[in-house]
Amino acid sequence: TTHEDWTRSDLYHNSFLIPKDDALEKAQANSVAKGLPEIAVSTAQGKFLNLLARSVGAKRILEVGTLGGYSTIWLGRALPEGGKLVTCEVEEKHAKAAQENISNAGLANKVTIKLGPAAETLSKEQPDEPYDLVFIDADKPNNLTYFIEAKRLVKKGGVIIVDNVVRNGLVAIPEHTHPSSEGVRALLNHLKDDKEVEATTLATVGEKGYDGFLYTIKL
Ligand code: SAM
Repeated sequence: TTHEDWTRSDLYHNSFLIPKDDALEKAQANSVAKGLPEIAVSTAQGKFLNLLARSVGAKRILEVGTLGGYSTIWLGRALPEGGKLVTCEVEEKHAKAAQENISNAGLANKVTIKLGPAAETLSKEQPDEPYDLVFIDADKPNNLTYFIEAKRLVKKGGVIIVDNVVRNGLVAIPEHTHPSSEGVRALLNHLKDDKEVEATTLATVGEKGYDGFLYTIKL
């Protein structure tokens, strides 16, 4: 099977399960027009995040890595009235496009973009109430730093998801020393002995190729 086969497969499934969506399509088009890289989660993954947030009844969501706000919109839509999402982004150009896309999706009142290096933003976070769900999808070498902060900021029983932990199977090949793969390994090594969480990796294949989510709950 080729990449085209998996793209066709995603499109086939999506055609039954995920209706055409103006705000999300506009967000994608505006992100391309503003020169953002095309590295958002896929449509099916976005909806998965949305369903997950609804499943856990998330009222407070934290995201690390906004880009053009594509995953932010999927997650933000899961929030009930009065729900809040904070998303961290270091690139001003990305944050600006994201703000446009989030406003266009009608989520400006629920979403706050925090501009700056996420490690700094997170270290300053002292929320009145802990988060219910954290989605980590930024610079992969900092995965462990973000995870430790996420664990501090999420409630007991809360969920932390980390994207891109399979990377075409390359994470499992030690000779592949790309900093992104090393960033995933550092997190996995940490999780081996972390008694405060339970985690599993769910590998996926689709229009974005072979990758996966790490799914964690805080005990
Ligand atoms: N979650 C987005 C989605 O699915 O629509 C995609 C996020 S993209 C994979 C990663 C983002 O993290 C980029 O926009 C990048 O600028 C941002 N980023 C990279 N390093 C960062 C840092 N140190 N702090 C905050 N954001 C960072």
